[in-house]
Amino acid sequence: MTHQLPELPFGKEDLAPIISAETLDYHYGKHHQAYVNKLNELIAGTDHADADLESIIKNSEGGVFNNAAQIWNHTFYWNGLRAPVDNNAPEGDLADAINAAFGSFDEFKAKFNASAIGNFGSGWTWLVKTADGSVAIHNTSNAGCVLTEDVTPLLTVDVWEHAYYVDYRNARPAYMDAIWSIINWNFVSQNLSA
Ligand code: MN
Repeated sequence: MTHQLPELPFGKEDLAPIISAETLDYHYGKHHQAYVNKLNELIAGTDHADADLESIIKNSEGGVFNNAAQIWNHTFYWNGLRAPVDNNAPEGDLADAINAAFGSFDEFKAKFNASAIGNFGSGWTWLVKTADGSVAIHNTSNAGCVLTEDVTPLLTVDVWEHAYYVDYRNARPAYMDAIWSIINWNFVSQNLSA
């Protein structure tokens, strides 16, 4: 199968000023597209040629894994974002799970930010549902994807420098502070209950 760049679930201007249209032009239009192009090139004529993305991620390594996981991770990241709203916060069962694991939403954000800021080099910071049903924060490096672990992904934030350099230069903490107003908590809740 030929993998395709998925449509963004929002307009290019919708995340501003937190994430600019210029960032999306590069991050979605060039980086995400490049992973799609490269994976299609790498799997042509191989055992992975007819596999879906999740199967490739769970059964590959090296360049094939890196490009497949980066396609999936970016799509999941976009789906977890929305236009900015004031006082943006989780509700219902998700809020309860976050409070149970971290004490409060503010404490969760502080821990998530610390994890993201401390994720050395390039990578992803995730909220996941663990095997016992509780929620936890995980970091992965480079293309690392939690689909290879015994957890359910709920939310991810891209902490590769290309995610924030246009809007925040080298200031990953400023990007992490800002991103909470554009998290799509409905998407996160759907993942928790799936
Ligand atoms: Mn990225």
